[in-house]
Amino acid sequence: MFPLTSTSSTRPEFEEQLLPLAERLSRALVAPAFDAEEGRAVGAALVAAHCTDPEALSRSLDCVDAYLVLYCGGDGDAEALRSRSARLQHAMAAGYAQALRERTLGEQEAIAQAALRAQGVVAQALHASEARFRAVFEGAAIGIGIADLDGNILQVNGALVRMFGGSEQALRGRNVKDWTHAEDAPQVWRLYEELVRGDREHYHVEKAFYRPDGTVLWTNLTVSLLRDPDGRPQYQLALMEDTTERRLLNLRLRYEATHDALTGLPNRTLFFERLEKALGAGEGQRFGLCYLDLDGFKTINDSLGHAAGDRLLVEVADRLQSCATAPGEMVARLGGDEFVALTTGPDTQREVDELASRIMHALLAPVRIDGRELTVRGSIGIVEGPAGERSAAEVLRSADITMYRAKSAGGNRFELADPEADARAITRHGLTTALPAALDRGEFFIEYQPLVHLGDGSVRGAEALVRWLHPQHGVLGPDRFIPLAEHTGLIVPLGRWVLEQSVRQARSWRERNADAGPFRINVNLSPCQLTHPGLVQDTVDILERAGVEPDALCLEVTESALIGADDDLLKPLRRLAEMGVDIALDDFGTGYSNLANLRRLPVSILKLDRSFTQSMQQFPADPVDLKIVEGIVSLAHSLDLAVTVEGVETGAQAEQLRILGCDTAQGWYYARPGPPERLHELALVDATG
Ligand code: C2E
Ligand code: MG
Ligand code: MG
Repeated sequence: MFPLTSTSSTRPEFEEQLLPLAERLSRALVAPAFDAEEGRAVGAALVAAHCTDPEALSRSLDCVDAYLVLYCGGDGDAEALRSRSARLQHAMAAGYAQALRERTLGEQEAIAQAALRAQGVVAQALHASEARFRAVFEGAAIGIGIADLDGNILQVNGALVRMFGGSEQALRGRNVKDWTHAEDAPQVWRLYEELVRGDREHYHVEKAFYRPDGTVLWTNLTVSLLRDPDGRPQYQLALMEDTTERRLLNLRLRYEATHDALTGLPNRTLFFERLEKALGAGEGQRFGLCYLDLDGFKTINDSLGHAAGDRLLVEVADRLQSCATAPGEMVARLGGDEFVALTTGPDTQREVDELASRIMHALLAPVRIDGRELTVRGSIGIVEGPAGERSAAEVLRSADITMYRAKSAGGNRFELADPEADARAITRHGLTTALPAALDRGEFFIEYQPLVHLGDGSVRGAEALVRWLHPQHGVLGPDRFIPLAEHTGLIVPLGRWVLEQSVRQARSWRERNADAGPFRINVNLSPCQLTHPGLVQDTVDILERAGVEPDALCLEVTESALIGADDDLLKPLRRLAEMGVDIALDDFGTGYSNLANLRRLPVSILKLDRSFTQSMQQFPADPVDLKIVEGIVSLAHSLDLAVTVEGVETGAQAEQLRILGCDTAQGWYYARPGPPERLHELALVDATG
């Protein structure tokens, strides 16, 4: 029987289920009284054991018929046993049939119950989803509308009604196709036609609508095609998001981002856009640019205050605007007192000159502010050329350089850009603005030039000379950027950095060459550093932090910085001198050398300027020059000052200066300024040799 079961039992498990049934039949066969119930129970048990295959019952009965009496009958009356076996088989069949019917009924009932329950759930779900749909439709923040394929509007939600600012009646019954707007993009109605034809499932556009009151509603519009259950196009569903406010805000933000708040002129951003457009124009198109910077505006701002400065700028902006009114012309403010005027077209060679003249002319009349008549002057750099050759940044850079040229030629004029001059020029402006970041990025470095004793040729010290490794222009000497750093005040942190680095170098030299005698580092000080209140404290801190004695440091101050210096200015230098820091008077002989003045100054070293050394180059040297140097040296010595000479380029010069009594010398003859390692070598050679 085994395979005729619908359970997943294994054969041994199945046998275990059937064995008690066989025993039950066996006992019923030989029981003193016949009980049909035993047979029915076994039949029912077969159903319970999942022997419900149509074959299962007849096989079981065959088996009972063949073997029950044979194996379980013992030696009882064979005829009586056979009769009992037959009756047991009838009872089994009856029990089996009933059990099977009951089970089937039970199963059907369960299915029916489940079906009933499911129906309830489905109905509920349908109800909920419709309710949800209605809630979405009505409560949505976006406008929703349904129309048929002819465009007749069938249903709209509250949000849509509110967006249009009318009543639902006014919207229903209207036709979608009436809603054309002057600013409709060309594809709007093509997409619409494709959708209602059934060729497209949805589309998304930005679209404007006229409201009943004539104002404009801007929307993000998504339209979808709804099909019936057979797939035929039936309705169109529109979802609209009101973007009017956002659009206005964007327009306003865009205006603010592209216009100067003070003068209302286009700003740098907008100007760049226009310039780029002009430069991208096609063949035959040209551009002309006037870059204007007011002369002496800073003085007006400083003396009359910013409010007056602002009013002046507004007045200038108005006058400029009236100079550039033709199509293709524009005026913008780049910032501060810098303005630009642009002209475009095929004929800008002539036009840009006229534009510049108009601007110069417009500035002629004085500006009245607070009852004062202010004269306004400006310097203009002009760049003109064909479109398509240069970038906006290049054009502006060229204009900037040219404007500076006009300014350094005295201002109140315009100059025309010269590509060769451009190529050579490194804008002052560019360097000045790059300076602060350069210090942060560590673009400065220091070279050291040895100071040699003229008597024995030993290295006594070195002068620290700062350089700027500019990312574009390469190594720049201090003459290029120190004046800019002084002008912007950056000289103070830069000078402090130079001092720190140099003092650290001095320590490492002293450590390496402990027995080579005193070694001193010379550091240049700008006049602005002299007046900076932190000078003394900074210097003391730096020396202490490096663990270096003050006598290892010499500060070089130019003679011109000390001309006419009063006691207040000299005080910090005096303090430093008292601590043991040497002070050298640099470039002596270039200014209005006042020998009598030397007495008052806290200096211990005179550095004779290169010009003296230069005059000794020819042979024989000018005897008058020799006399002057001799005189200075003896005077210096009588005042207890040591004398250093700069710019020694030949051995003859060195010898001459030694004879004249100079103490130390510096110049290419000994070494050019170089990296600190070079000085280590020199120091060692001289100490040992
Ligand atoms: P300075 O203090 O008079 O420096 C001497 C200048 O002469 C250096 O120019 C040096 O390179 C140059 N020189 C040295 N030997 C010879 C020579 O044999 N022949 C010729 N023709 N020139 C020689 P450099 O480095 O260009 O420095 C120029 C000036 O920049 C310095 O003049 C100094 O006033 C200033 N400077 C340099 N570094 C600093 C600094 O860290 N701070 C400040 N405030 N100024 C500095
Ligand atoms: Mg110097
Ligand atoms: Mg010097």
